[in-house]
Amino acid sequence: MSEQKKHKTLEDFRAEIDRCVKCGACQAQCAVYKTLKRESTVARGKVAIAEALLDKDLPLNDRFVLDMSQCLLCGSCYDKCPNLVPTDEIVMAARREIAERQGLTTFGKALTGVIKRPKLMDLLAKSGQRFGSMLFKKVPEHSGLRLRFPVPFIAQDRAIPEIAKVPFRERYPQPLTGDSEKVPVAFFTGCMINYTYPEVGEALVKIMRFMGIPMVVPQGQGCCGLPAHAAGDAATVDLLADNNVAAFAQQPGVVVTACASCNAGIGKHYRDMGGAYTELGEKVVDVLKFLVDNGLIEKLKALPSATDTLRVTYHDPCHLRTQGITAQPRELLRALPGVEFVEMEGADRCCGLGGTFSVYHYDTSRKIGARKADGIAASQADVVASACPGCMMQLQDSIEHAGLSQRVSHVLELIADRLPDVS
Ligand code: SF4
Ligand code: SF4
Repeated sequence: MSEQKKHKTLEDFRAEIDRCVKCGACQAQCAVYKTLKRESTVARGKVAIAEALLDKDLPLNDRFVLDMSQCLLCGSCYDKCPNLVPTDEIVMAARREIAERQGLTTFGKALTGVIKRPKLMDLLAKSGQRFGSMLFKKVPEHSGLRLRFPVPFIAQDRAIPEIAKVPFRERYPQPLTGDSEKVPVAFFTGCMINYTYPEVGEALVKIMRFMGIPMVVPQGQGCCGLPAHAAGDAATVDLLADNNVAAFAQQPGVVVTACASCNAGIGKHYRDMGGAYTELGEKVVDVLKFLVDNGLIEKLKALPSATDTLRVTYHDPCHLRTQGITAQPRELLRALPGVEFVEMEGADRCCGLGGTFSVYHYDTSRKIGARKADGIAASQADVVASACPGCMMQLQDSIEHAGLSQRVSHVLELIADRLPDVS
């Protein structure tokens, strides 16, 4: 692809669209289809609609826009498609086409207007932290936050994580030292760990210290761009990618992510963009895979046994599952002293967040999340672990709506909790 064309158009996907043989194998995979039971919501239907638009048999109307918005971009259909039709990428190309012809939606404009301005994000986070009690309440006390009054784009009864008093990146401006013969790892934090789940980043710091691995938290980094991809805003994706390429230019080693969505945003999607973006994308690795590859399992097995037992289950984030990263989180959890790992039914099913999907289609997102909550309840676990802050937010919301008491935790937090203090 040329430097001017980092993103494929719908027409560029013509060959992939033609590969769809309408077999329907994708139906069983699609959480949206299972909930709405409409052909236009499943991969086969979306591919047919995209083809009809290309052939000019269908106008780009409100119906087309709605159909293309009803996709979690989870990639579950691609995973099981016999002809490897990349419906999630076709949907993203369709959304770019919509944005090009009609402009971004109001929410799309608001969202990308914020994520492309890191200073504005910092300011909003600090204001949210400062005035949070005016905006949000905690009912019940142990729950996530809920809005006190209606605010555009956020459902009033959605559980929202608290905003960090100090964003994670600000806490580690200097490199963290480790064994001098080891190449430092660079940490791509993503927005949610930076602003709302800094405890996940703190857990990683503790684990890296325990492993003796030096780590850098590059200060100029920003959003990976996945929300802009989902909105169809290619210009913002490019702007953010340029920023991250510059921020990580001096990093010689791997770039770890502790957010499955960021892993797709800065890993998979950058690899497709060519040049320096591909170079950065190829250095990106999920942190749980990195830790397993670097011997953490053996170290955990050597820890003294624990006095307490925690029953833990695991939810597979789609962006890791579709890359085949499913064994590593389970192996880590099984190796932890005092953890009894149990599988839950439907662990590999999407939680229903889908980024902006849950903003546009919160009712459907809730219904998908309710099925996930059923699996969590049946597992009788104390804790549901995951490896994506976005999934964690959705799981917390689903658990609370189902009236369950399980705690949601990142795998890194559970590991860090069982490690001795390391200075
Ligand atoms: S599984 Fe693949 S080939 Fe079969 S209908 Fe779905 S998208 Fe088309
Ligand atoms: S990407 Fe996910 S939500 Fe979208 S069509 Fe495929 S399975 Fe359904």
